[in-house]
Amino acid sequence: MNDRPLPPDLRQKWGHLRFLRYKGNGEWSAECPNCHDDGHDNSKGKPDRFMIFDHNTGTSRKARGKCRRCGHLEWLGDDPSKPITPKQRREDEKERRELAKLQEQKYLDRQEWLRQQTFWQEFHEDMTKGQRQIWHKAGVGNWAIDLHRLGYSQRDDGALSIPYMEGSDINTLQFRLMKPPSPGDKYRFLTGTRAELFRVWPDEPLTGVILITEGAKKGIVTFQGGPYTYQGESITVISVPMKNVPERLIKQLLDADLLIWLLDPDAYEIPRRRVGVQESSVSRNIRLAGDNRCLMVKAVDKIDDMFLAGLKTTTFQNMLNQAQPYIRKESKDGRQGKTYGRGS
Ligand SMILES: [Zn+2]
Repeated sequence: MNDRPLPPDLRQKWGHLRFLRYKGNGEWSAECPNCHDDGHDNSKGKPDRFMIFDHNTGTSRKARGKCRRCGHLEWLGDDPSKPITPKQRREDEKERRELAKLQEQKYLDRQEWLRQQTFWQEFHEDMTKGQRQIWHKAGVGNWAIDLHRLGYSQRDDGALSIPYMEGSDINTLQFRLMKPPSPGDKYRFLTGTRAELFRVWPDEPLTGVILITEGAKKGIVTFQGGPYTYQGESITVISVPMKNVPERLIKQLLDADLLIWLLDPDAYEIPRRRVGVQESSVSRNIRLAGDNRCLMVKAVDKIDDMFLAGLKTTTFQNMLNQAQPYIRKESKDGRQGKTYGRGS
């Protein structure tokens, strides 16, 4: 994305904010004038929670800025000492919905484009022996490399390429950088595409009992030791692309009878100093998917590392047999047990 300075009228109001960056489509991001970079995890890049929308481009009728974290809202030309009116809030929300719709269509168009391309298959076909060995070292065997057409690309000084397949269609393409700028910043989705679910067996529907791992590689490594069962039912393995799973992806899992969450140990930590969020990723995901359809398996380490260190399939099957429900303490804000989707 080419950088672009704020137009002069917007610059007067928001030009002083730190980490100001152009995002495209008439949108900039920066740190928030209200909550600043409070609680921000710097290993994930600079704070960009404050969204600034220009009125000359995009769909905004009046320029404004809004914080994704604390909800702070500012309109261009308004007296900053006066509170935002309900009408302004409504207008903001309407425009946000319009923007989201536009963005959704862009993603779908880009996905359609990707499905017409063959470059990602060449990343697989052109892999050298040495590049294939990088996969082997990560615990991924030839069977999975060929099934998923896992590959190697020269971008960013070398990156593993991971197509996310659904049946014979590609949904998105992910890269695992060999030289990441920081340890927590290893993965990239192809520009213009977005995070999706990784289906370890691309043809299987997302029904029955689903085991959820974190990251495509872990899903594959876990699956290789299988098949696994839970109370006599066979298990479908999938991977989520991040600890805090986007709600649109959780919604894709609501036809399943049972979701068994096997996330990394740090998904159980409650992030400190974050405004308004006092919940671990596991708690959040299970709350959104519905407490009554979820169990969790708490492993002591990342599951692929455990398999590489010699974890036995029978031991892992025992861990699955002992999957536990998430016990939620009653909270004052009424967040516990919220379920959406079918029949609710
Ligand atoms: Zn804020």
